[in-house]
Amino acid sequence: MHNNEIALQIAGVIRGVVRPSGDAFVPLHEPTFRGREKDYVTECIETGWVSTAGQFVERFELELAAYCGVRRAVAVCNGTAALHTCFIIAGVQPGDEVIIPALTFVATANAVSYAGAIPHFADSEETTLGIDPVKLTEHLEKITEMRDGACYNRETGNRIAAISPMHTFGHPSMLDELLMVANRFNIALVEDAAEALGSDYKGRHCGGFGKINAVSFNGNKVITTGGGGALLTNDDALADRAKHITTTAKLPHRWYYDHDVVGYNYRMPNLNAALGVAQLEQLPGLLEGKRALAMRYAQIFADIPNVNFITEPEHCKSNYWLNALLLDRGSEKELEPILKVTNDAGLMTRPAWRPMHQLPMFTDAPRMNLSVAESLAQRLINIPSSAGLL
Ligand SMILES: *Cc1c(COP(=O)(O)O)cnc(C)c1O
Repeated sequence: MHNNEIALQIAGVIRGVVRPSGDAFVPLHEPTFRGREKDYVTECIETGWVSTAGQFVERFELELAAYCGVRRAVAVCNGTAALHTCFIIAGVQPGDEVIIPALTFVATANAVSYAGAIPHFADSEETTLGIDPVKLTEHLEKITEMRDGACYNRETGNRIAAISPMHTFGHPSMLDELLMVANRFNIALVEDAAEALGSDYKGRHCGGFGKINAVSFNGNKVITTGGGGALLTNDDALADRAKHITTTAKLPHRWYYDHDVVGYNYRMPNLNAALGVAQLEQLPGLLEGKRALAMRYAQIFADIPNVNFITEPEHCKSNYWLNALLLDRGSEKELEPILKVTNDAGLMTRPAWRPMHQLPMFTDAPRMNLSVAESLAQRLINIPSSAGLL
């Protein structure tokens, strides 16, 4: 069947690359526990410190901040909660707009909504898969005006309060250029670095470029705490505020329960932080494994026509969280057969997310022309990416 030629070829390549597994099912991304995970989690259970107090949360925060090269990390219960809190701290108010890529996981848009704000969708750029700073600048020049130092969307009347670049599959977005746009229009930048733990932009770790930024430790991310996330910042006052509002905004006192604002119960339990401390110890080795797998894929897919393996952008080091193939323009019709043949063969693959503006709850949201994001969504395929696959 001519129709399936590329699909069969791709399935063959993936089966050939992954650790000899016979016909076994190969997931897209599974966690790896080869360190002291069990010891630390057992320690929580044996000492009784499993929940909201215990030493692993603070230890995880200190070690995470050091790894990411930022002053402070605040651990929370998941990445979406981290991002929601980032927007509050960055000054996003109900009725504001927040610029996010149309091509992202739904959590980015949901977190904007939790803050009472409206996502404003930006188009992608084809080499990094992140927000296109040139196209965004042209769009903002056309539709915004500055009033009292703030940026307003003339078409909706809303303030544009923040921009949240997302580092797709772990590949850093064009942060220098996006920071220039943010500064020029006086918009706060908050990185959705959920997928980018272990990725560097020009020698600095992702998650340290905005005022305050979010990472995730969900089960399918580079490292996991079961479920979890963190805010990263170089500003002590913002970190203190983040800690306060994610822990019910309780004022410290030995016995009185006083709270000064509506806070959130977003804290990371000690049990999850214990897993996180052990996973952080493993992170450098996991990244090496993922890089070796990506290099092997890159080498082999170079010989397959109409298919491009996505590699890290210039001046960046990617964590290669999820490996991705990009079909040439004109080869969109191959997407469906490739997904079918590979999944039928027990090799888990999936397309990129449905772009946010095509989801029912965001169809009316403001946006720019999204032609590149729409095209990428028809041509991207994620392939098995676990650290131990090679
Ligand atoms: C994983 C992820 C998040 C946060 O997810 P949680 O599952 O809530 O930890 C946010 N944004 C993006 C782009 C993600 O991939």
